Amino acid sequence: MDNDIERILYSRDDIAKAAKRLGKQLTNDFQDKRPIIISVLKGAILFTVDVIKEMDVYAEIDFIDVASYHGGTQSSGEIDLVRDIGSDIAGRNILIIEDIIDTGRTLKYLIDLLKSRNAAEIKVCTLLDKEEGRLIDVKADYVGFSVPNEFVVGYGLDYQELYRNLPYVGVLKPSVYTN
Ligand code: 5GP
Ligand code: MG
Ligand code: MG
Repeated sequence: MDNDIERILYSRDDIAKAAKRLGKQLTNDFQDKRPIIISVLKGAILFTVDVIKEMDVYAEIDFIDVASYHGGTQSSGEIDLVRDIGSDIAGRNILIIEDIIDTGRTLKYLIDLLKSRNAAEIKVCTLLDKEEGRLIDVKADYVGFSVPNEFVVGYGLDYQELYRNLPYVGVLKPSVYTN
């Protein structure tokens, strides 16, 4: 897989440091909130595992799966709910964990969904924030890294369902797309 990567943006070590830093902040901010942490499948799985280990708070964990990409490197604009959470979130403090926020459509969809179910408070932690890609005005409260407007893979993020298990985040070689 390493041969398909043009350059590494965030190394294993960079990511571990970011997870520690965010974990400390989250520990502080969620101390008495008993949050339900909602991890967004599949991209956020690696980041979720690393961040929650750094959070010393009582928390429940749940998963939601939404699809917006349908295989390519461009968003289709439509969001499908693929798998719903199992928790009753009414009156609860929620922490959404995402892999990347690009246009903001996915996050907007999630926030609207959780609000409609009467969540008390919704905060967002994302590994990557691609601010230049934003089409909808949504913000993350906790950000690992601000990324340039390029298609990245690794550490949970895929290209056609591959590369999620790379331990770092990188940019694919153009030849991989044109194959
Ligand atoms: P948004 O709805 O904010 O446009 O996009 C959110 C979703 O699009 C992310 O959760 C992720 O699955 C996908 N996405 C956006 N940018 C990238 C990228 O650079 N690389 C990969 N692999 N997925 C991306
Ligand atoms: Mg995502
Ligand atoms: Mg994807």
